[in-house]
Amino acid sequence: MNKILCSFLLFLILFPAACTKHDDPELEEPGKVIVLMYHRIVKGEATNLYERSLENLEADLMYLNSNNIKVISFADLGEFSEQGSIPEGNYAIITFDDGDSSWYTLVRQLLIDHNMKATFFLWTYMIGSDSFITWEEVENMSNYMVKGGERPFTFGSHSYSHSFLYDNRSRYATLAEYQSFLDYELGRSKEIIEQHTPGDVDVFSLPYGNGAGDEEIIAAAERNGYKFIRTSIWSAIDNTNLDLMIIPSLPMLDASEPDLIGYYLGISETYN
Ligand SMILES: [Zn+2]
Repeated sequence: MNKILCSFLLFLILFPAACTKHDDPELEEPGKVIVLMYHRIVKGEATNLYERSLENLEADLMYLNSNNIKVISFADLGEFSEQGSIPEGNYAIITFDDGDSSWYTLVRQLLIDHNMKATFFLWTYMIGSDSFITWEEVENMSNYMVKGGERPFTFGSHSYSHSFLYDNRSRYATLAEYQSFLDYELGRSKEIIEQHTPGDVDVFSLPYGNGAGDEEIIAAAERNGYKFIRTSIWSAIDNTNLDLMIIPSLPMLDASEPDLIGYYLGISETYN
């Protein structure tokens, strides 16, 4: 028997505890986070890709519950990043894009009933017009408090004018002009939202998912006080892609089944 094998066997005899799962954190299952992306929620059947019925949204929330997928916030994800890894288990962050009035009329009460938190990204210019939520409703939701003092509804920015942030770069003659366009989209929208909500706005979601991972856009986000950028890259987050400025997500569309969530987290092998 060679020397290395001998000393390994001796080690096993002397330190059996070192080999149990309990004492070796490297043997724990790595944790995963899925960021769910919704747009408009409707009563009855969804009529296009970016609508989801209230019934299906509720089925998603029940799926999270019954599969022990814990709903967390972007701030919690920030803590995972500071610790350097996602704790064992499965987590979800619930997000909504654009600013549909259904957030107030349908989503708000459903989330309260299921005791779940969510982040809502506002297309700032449109708030209060057409079928969009009003600023008064945003104020109401963002100040809503559960027992214990936590506010479950967070508002982030989805830019000012919902422009393509990366593809529009060619419209600007100089880098400085492009940067001031980005500063307006990210900075002005943040200022306006902060006038209507408690606390800082530090989460941004890219319109059309355009510009994920782009250096200039990330620099603009940092310059304007953001800590998180949610992209539209379809993926879950694990310890290999835990980057707060390139957060992937999973759109829940009109016909998505709840077990798609489990498929992305690796807890179900197929999905309907
Ligand atoms: Zn959008």
